[in-house]
Formats: sequence, structure tokens, C-alpha cells
Amino acid sequence: MARIETQAVEFDALLKTRGVTRRRFLEFCGAVTVSLGLSEALAPKVAEAIEENVIGKAKGKLAPVLWLELASCTGCTESFAQVETPDVATVVLELISLNYAETLSAGAGYSLELAKKQTMEEAAGEYIVIIEGALMEGWEGNALRIANEKAVDIIREVSANAKAIVCAGSCAVDGGWQAAVPNPGGATGIEPFLKREKAAGRFTYEVDPTVDIPPIINVPTCPSNPEHLVAVLVDVLLVGKLPELDSHNKPTLMFGEYIHDNCPRRGHFENGEFVRQFGSEEERKGYCLYALGCKGPQTKNNCPIVRWNRRVSWCVEAGAPCIGCASADPTKAGFNWVDLNTPFFNRVKNLKIGDIILQPATLAAGIGGIAAIALIAHGFGMKATGRTKGGADFESERKWDAKHPDKAIATAPAAQAAKSTQEAEAAEEADEQTEGGDQ
Ligand code: SF4
Ligand code: SF4
Repeated sequence: MARIETQAVEFDALLKTRGVTRRRFLEFCGAVTVSLGLSEALAPKVAEAIEENVIGKAKGKLAPVLWLELASCTGCTESFAQVETPDVATVVLELISLNYAETLSAGAGYSLELAKKQTMEEAAGEYIVIIEGALMEGWEGNALRIANEKAVDIIREVSANAKAIVCAGSCAVDGGWQAAVPNPGGATGIEPFLKREKAAGRFTYEVDPTVDIPPIINVPTCPSNPEHLVAVLVDVLLVGKLPELDSHNKPTLMFGEYIHDNCPRRGHFENGEFVRQFGSEEERKGYCLYALGCKGPQTKNNCPIVRWNRRVSWCVEAGAPCIGCASADPTKAGFNWVDLNTPFFNRVKNLKIGDIILQPATLAAGIGGIAAIALIAHGFGMKATGRTKGGADFESERKWDAKHPDKAIATAPAAQAAKSTQEAEAAEEADEQTEGGDQ
């Protein structure tokens, strides 16, 4: 007991030297437990585990980590470096021995490359690889070279003895922006690359030759949510196991539910109350952003719960339709979340329900109705099962709308179309009269 108290005092002193209060540290641990999908009541356990690794009996057994930067905007590193406060991030970074990171390491050049080589040799089977950015296979692998080596060769080499690979951000998962059509540099995600290499007989997982590729944890979004990344590291390094993963190797606790299902604007969706134009009255009233192309109904992520920027807000809450940045899919060749979801802020081009992708271009006009029916049916299903219980009551607004059709907001598409047609006919008539007058 005395040892534990001493440890707590020592840890508090360490926090103090970094300008972090105990309360702030516990808030951070609460955020990690929520990201892990655990009850916030378990935050003290996470705090204990961190203390144990930083100054307790596990001290000095830091897991070696190699952070590889491939074709990217460095947004994921930026995002991770901003987690909570830099001081708390520093504490967490003391859980790992970050032996190689092009953007975070103080070292550079030959000494940094040597650190990577030594880690691969001396900690074979023990090190974790975090990969940010897309791998470029184009021009025989010369589209991306690091330290005069082709990135494709580096990935093969570093993956052969990795304990696990964390793909941080959507680019590392399915190629991301770099892989968007026409993709001249041959951008791809890490998992599809390693699977293809294995099938072609160019890759062996040395740690366990009975499996094709190392364990992969895909943590999409653009950039990766720092709280997701820290939660995965806490899970792998402290709890000592891989998180539960779905068929896309994404942690189910973070990517198991549709954004739409937890969205605070969901009541408006069910009522058919949509924002059709930025700057409109509907936007001011916080209506649903589906008509502006929100991809929440087809994207799985816990953004409404974990949020961003120290849990202050997230895309839809800030008024921006979800662009589906977490929908990166490593299992389909040529699949890319950017191609699937662009143009952003427009009604869905391809509506993905489960494994089915509906493409209006091929299914022509009928799809709009089908998609709307499917989504609205889903919405009413949610209401019928009580999963939206406790949401806002919009009955009074709907009654007011019914009494004042000329002033009603969230006008139904059919009514809008009829109004537009009337206006167009009136304008045409006026033009004809003007032309007649001119003659
Ligand atoms: S469509 Fe988007 S804004 Fe509307 S309820 Fe769903 S997630 Fe929220
Ligand atoms: S709300 Fe959508 S676009 Fe925004 S971070 Fe989440 S998945 Fe990405």
C-alpha cells in the first residue's frame, strides 16, 4: 500500500512538472475510455495503467514504435500531436518508445534510419508500426522513395517482423485522396497491398508464417481522431491485446454504429425537416443536413460521442454535413472513400447500404425515391423501436407549418418543385408578354 501511495505522489509530481493537474489527467483518461467504448467509470483503471507504465513496475518496458510517414498531408501526425494538451500527450508518449518518426523525432538522416534498422533487428516481433498516408506503387515503386529506398520495399521489410500495424487515417486504409481517380502514382492502402504481395509470393510474415499478414488495426477518418489513436495504443500496449475488430479490421467499439443513429439532428430527419441551402432559415433552426449531402446514414463512426478538438464539437454539430471520411474500405480493390463520396455537400452520388452500393447514374431517376424511402423507413423504424426516445418534440412546428403553408420552412420537395414550376411558368409568360410588347 505504501508503495502505491508513493507511486501516486511521484506521478502527481511528474504531472505537476508538466503543468498538468490531476483533474485534467483524469479527464483525459475518461476520454480514452469513451473512445474504447468502455464506461467512463473505468477511467481510474486507465489512469492506473498509465501510471504503472510511466513510473510503476512496468517502467522501462516501453513498447518500441515505428511511425512511418508515407504519401500524406501529415494531418494525422498534427492531429495526434494536439491530443488534449501537449503535456498530456507527452505523458502518453512516455508509454511508448517512439524510435522512428520522420516528423516527430528530434533525430534525422542516417541516425534516424539506423534507429529504425536497429529496432527491426533487436525488437523483432515486439515493435508496433503506425503508418500514416498512402503507399505509392506507381512507376515500379519509385513514386515514393524514403531515404533512397522504395516505400514498397520498406513496408514489406518493416511488416515482416511487426507485432501489429496501426493504419492511422483513411489514406493508410484505402489510399485516400492520393488514390482518387485517376491515381497516376498507384496509391493504395497497407492491408490491400500486403494481401496482394502475399498472394504473389513476395511477402512472408516472419513472426507467424501460418498467417498471411501481420495483425492490422485500421483507424480511418481524415485525419485520424487522436482520441481513437491513443485509445488503440492504450488497448494494445496496456491491456495487451488487439481491440475487437470488424470485417474491415476497424475497432468495432469506435466504428460499429452509423453516425446517423447517434446524430442530434436525427429527429429532424424523421420529420422530413432538411436544410436545402447554407445560410437558410432551415440551417439556422439546426435541421438535418441530408439534403446537403450528409453521409452520416452510410458512415460508421462514433463522432457524435467522442467528437473532436477536446470533445468540443464535430462536423454535423458545427453545421457541416458528414463527408464520410471514415468509410474507407480496405477490402475492395479500387474502392476509395473519396471517389465514393464526392462531390461532397451534394445529395449522395452512391448510396451504400450494408454491402450494396446504389448508383443513381446506373439506376437513373427511380433511385432518389428508393433511397429516400429506404432511409425514411429506417428512420421511422428507429422511432418505432424507441431508439430516438427523448429527442426533441417537433409537433408544434409541424402544426404551425401545416397552418401556414406559404411561410412554412422545410418545404417538401414535391411542393418545392410545384412552386418552382409555377414560378418558371409565370416568368415564361411574363417574357412572352414582354417580347410581344417589343414587337
Ligand atoms: S443525415 Fe446527417 S445530419 Fe441528418 S440526421 Fe443523419 S447524420 Fe444527422
Ligand atoms: S462526421 Fe463524418 S466527415 Fe466528420 S469526422 Fe466523422 S466520419 Fe469524418
